[in-house]
Amino acid sequence: MGTTRRPPPHGTTTTAHGDAGAAVHPETVQGPGGGPGPGPAAERAGAAAARLAEAGVEGVALTWVDNAGLTRVKAVPARRLQEVIRTGVGMSPCFDVYLVDDSMTDSPHIGGPDGDLRLVPDLDRLTVLAAQPGWAWAPVDRHEQDGRPYAACQRGFARRMARRALDEHGITLKAGFETEWVVVRGPAPGPAAEPAYPATGPAYGMARLVETSDYLRDVLAALTAQGVEVLQIHPEYAPGQFEVSTAPSDPVGAADLAVLVRETVRAVSLRHGLTALFGPVVEPDGVGNGGHLHLSLWRSGRNLSSGGPGPCGMTREAEAFWAGVLHRLPELLALGAPSPASLLRLRPSRWAGAHQCWGLENREAALRFVAGGERMPQAANAEIKCVDASANPYLLVGGVIAAGLAGLADGDGARLPDPVSGDPARTGTHMRLPGSAQEVLRRFEESRVLRAALGEELFGAVRAVRAGEIALFEGASDHEIAAATRGRY
Ligand code: GLU
Ligand code: MG
Repeated sequence: MGTTRRPPPHGTTTTAHGDAGAAVHPETVQGPGGGPGPGPAAERAGAAAARLAEAGVEGVALTWVDNAGLTRVKAVPARRLQEVIRTGVGMSPCFDVYLVDDSMTDSPHIGGPDGDLRLVPDLDRLTVLAAQPGWAWAPVDRHEQDGRPYAACQRGFARRMARRALDEHGITLKAGFETEWVVVRGPAPGPAAEPAYPATGPAYGMARLVETSDYLRDVLAALTAQGVEVLQIHPEYAPGQFEVSTAPSDPVGAADLAVLVRETVRAVSLRHGLTALFGPVVEPDGVGNGGHLHLSLWRSGRNLSSGGPGPCGMTREAEAFWAGVLHRLPELLALGAPSPASLLRLRPSRWAGAHQCWGLENREAALRFVAGGERMPQAANAEIKCVDASANPYLLVGGVIAAGLAGLADGDGARLPDPVSGDPARTGTHMRLPGSAQEVLRRFEESRVLRAALGEELFGAVRAVRAGEIALFEGASDHEIAAATRGRY
């Protein structure tokens, strides 16, 4: 495995939510063609190309994530990077209405064979890939042919929401996704095949780490070589399941990192003859793969989730933000738990956060508040647990910020209800999140906040993909849904 080292591309490099320095991701300097014109940006592109040549990179994978939650790619020879930064790479907008099985649906603004977009890589995130020798990666912003930002660009949406928080409230956000996956021997098991797990040790068991120590070491080594700061890695509950968490970043950076971490885990797995499954469930009755999102709010170096008069020491602003999110979790599931398999995971008593409530360190609450305690007040943050790894991380982080901003706009009206302790499934007093994809879609369709934030093009495409996937799996059994989705994300 290559181990070319370079400075971390992901900004903040301190412990979870404990640093004051996060900034909204700087906009790539754009020239008329959507890429940088002459000047510092062009120089940076030249320096990046030289760095890639020195690292022996042949190809650069340019990725974005579609509305079904699948990471799509175009790749270019490394020597074309400078030109690509200037002109972008062509790609049809039709992928915004692709479904999880690669069939295509249609939406009011997007669909059909016509049109082309330009994919413009973000040089700030350009990363030499440790587990794919000869390859580098960069996420893209998508532009119209004339260089205008593409209205349905999910990454642009996340950036717009982060900027709104800053412009309207002076708030910067730090975010981090947790990645859970199940690893099986050989290719992803088809509908008739049972998963073959390479690790048979107990949940969270040292025995499982021992069984897979070469593999997990290589996951760690690859992430570290890529400048990703890993906070933790451990065996999870389900057979063959693991989790890795990484240091927080600005919202767009965190979504980029979610893509990079997943593709790195996938690549290292393949080098060990294994397949990493990121679908919400591998077996319909088992514990699933979450894709929890941590968020903290900051102003002038101060964490707004501690030292305030609100519940668990939140400032009133943080409370209003989280009240806005809690209130809108049902509609946010259309972005955060979008797979036909998501609701197979989102069941009570599996730490998946199936109830619409919040609690201090409560792993059954959809919103888990992490106070940080007296020793680490700067680490206070909230974790959204009801979401999984089929989510497009850009849509999810942008949608959560939009919901939180709506809470802030409600002003004094936005207060959190009492926190919940214990498993809400046992007390039976708290509302379950929607139990069907139809209900999630209905809540999304009625969401004025998400519709306004996403804009008509993106909102219409997301709605069409959700409806298309509901139709695709109509009448399918839970086992068929799990088998058709577990290896897709
Ligand atoms: N695997 C659980 C889920 O589906 C999460 C376990 C944990 O809290 O890390 O979300
Ligand atoms: Mg976990």
